[in-house]
Amino acid sequence: MATLERRPLVAANWKMQLTRAEAATYCRALLAGGTASAVEILLLPSYPLLGTVTEALAGSAIALGAQDLSPEPGGAFTGDVSAAQLVDAGCRYVICGHSERRRLHGEDDALVAAKARAALASGLAPIVCVGESREERHGGRTFDVLARQLEPLPVDPRLVLAYEPLWAIGTGETATPDTAADAHSYLRSRLERRAGAEQAARQRILYGGSVTPENAPALAGEHDIDGFLVGGASLDPMRFRAIISSFAVP
Ligand code: PEP
Repeated sequence: MATLERRPLVAANWKMQLTRAEAATYCRALLAGGTASAVEILLLPSYPLLGTVTEALAGSAIALGAQDLSPEPGGAFTGDVSAAQLVDAGCRYVICGHSERRRLHGEDDALVAAKARAALASGLAPIVCVGESREERHGGRTFDVLARQLEPLPVDPRLVLAYEPLWAIGTGETATPDTAADAHSYLRSRLERRAGAEQAARQRILYGGSVTPENAPALAGEHDIDGFLVGGASLDPMRFRAIISSFAVP
């Protein structure tokens, strides 16, 4: 569970899904549940939906973000989108280094770190995804992988980490609360070593990987789990709401 220093953040990664009309309907349904909350709610649609979602969320407390960005500030980079353009579109957050980008687009740790730096330079908070594969976990290399992924990242309190073990993403196989808690506590200890205890205590570490309304409450109860990055279950606004509620302060 997040602490007073860390407001829980629950983010919906829609991936490459939904039309503008579907996104508008989704936002209406989500907003109907009210937005005053101790939890920060974030929607991460694909680029063509940003305008529609910005309009639909106007006046609400729900934040907007994007799923990727270019490390470059601008120029001849066909198909890419800069941090400044995302800010202009109303984004406050951006995912960097989602495992689907690392795996399908060959993004390495250095590129992910460059993207995180570009985001911060424009005032966006990067949500940097880290996590081990099944083979790495079985080989006892989880912490080594996390340390390697963390190493080149900028030291900045605005940076959000998302622990997303590859074997849990989109598989229906969620990390147990104990397994996730071990990884989160390890990440927090690395942050402490890099930035000092005070900053590490303020940085949020999200869990992602087959989060559902059913498994969310137990995960949310873990001390170092400060929110969720949700894929599949976030596509239904009611299920997403139920996941958000797992962080509701009694
Ligand atoms: C994700 O893609 O970041 C993710 C966690 O997906 P899912 O919740 O579907 O496992």
